[in-house]
Amino acid sequence: EAKARGRGRWEVFTPPMAETVEEKRRIEQDLRRALDTGGELRLEYQPIFATDGRTVAGAEALVRWEHPERGRLAPDVFIGVAEERGLIERLGEWVLEEACRMLARTTIPWVAVNVSPVELRSRRFVDRVIEQLRQLGIDPARLQLEITEGVLLDTSEATEAGLTRLRTAGIRLALDDFGTGYSSLNYLRRYNVDKLKIDRSFVGQLGQSSDAEVIVRTIIDLARSLNMKVTAEGVATEQQRDYLVARGCHELQGYLLSQPLPLEAFLEFTGIAA
Ligand code: C2E
Ligand code: MG
Ligand code: MG
Ligand code: MG
Repeated sequence: EAKARGRGRWEVFTPPMAETVEEKRRIEQDLRRALDTGGELRLEYQPIFATDGRTVAGAEALVRWEHPERGRLAPDVFIGVAEERGLIERLGEWVLEEACRMLARTTIPWVAVNVSPVELRSRRFVDRVIEQLRQLGIDPARLQLEITEGVLLDTSEATEAGLTRLRTAGIRLALDDFGTGYSSLNYLRRYNVDKLKIDRSFVGQLGQSSDAEVIVRTIIDLARSLNMKVTAEGVATEQQRDYLVARGCHELQGYLLSQPLPLEAFLEFTGIAA
């Protein structure tokens, strides 16, 4: 644990979000080049633990960009621009391929991949996910797609059909940043969501805010009552972990346990066989 915890934290390298038009244009141009060459993008894996704190349940894949002049960029800097400028599908394609290769070459139980609402509307995206798993002979249950609450509110036919096809294929769905958006309990059932991920803003306030405690407890109870799994994001202290475990949260993710790691470091740290 200490090994992973001691490394420099990602936030340190995070420049301000792209706000100005010029800044966005620059990121767009550079990202096009990065996607063409493929050499600047990296995928890191953050272990997600069972509540014993030792068993690795799976991992979340998180994209990073090794910019030649600006250093390592966190996804918050470029995901938004990629969505706005029509690059998110190519980026998502790269992430998905990389994550599927990782699934094919290791014994990890599952990997979670973040999916933008923009991608979910595309039929090509859904086809590609299913085809990719088939080609590599990966059990679809080993892939989890993390979507945000807004996706479930998008009642467009394309999104609905896409979610249903993914579920029918056996792919798992997790609701990311749960509690920060607008959710309809009805949609949780309708799309057969497998997992809720409690947003780290609530987890981070455990022990400081009784409201946060009530929210966290309520999300855990909701998930358990609907037979869904529940994961806490951003677990950073032992006190937070103890509260979550006592309340019946199934899985823990956060710097207390490990930060995101490059593949080789991830395999070494978790002892998962390649
Ligand atoms: P997310 O999906 O909610 O991912 C969790 C974020 O919390 C990650 O930030 C992770 O590094 C960070 N984190 C984990 N544990 C802790 C902790 O204990 N404390 C704190 N303060 N942070 C923690 P990251 O990697 O910067 O990613 C930010 C967001 O960018 C993600 O939030 C996700 O929405 C998006 N993202 C990342 N990779 C991809 C991708 O491949 N595709 C898409 N579409 N979005 C992505
Ligand atoms: Mg996520
Ligand atoms: Mg999240
Ligand atoms: Mg988030």
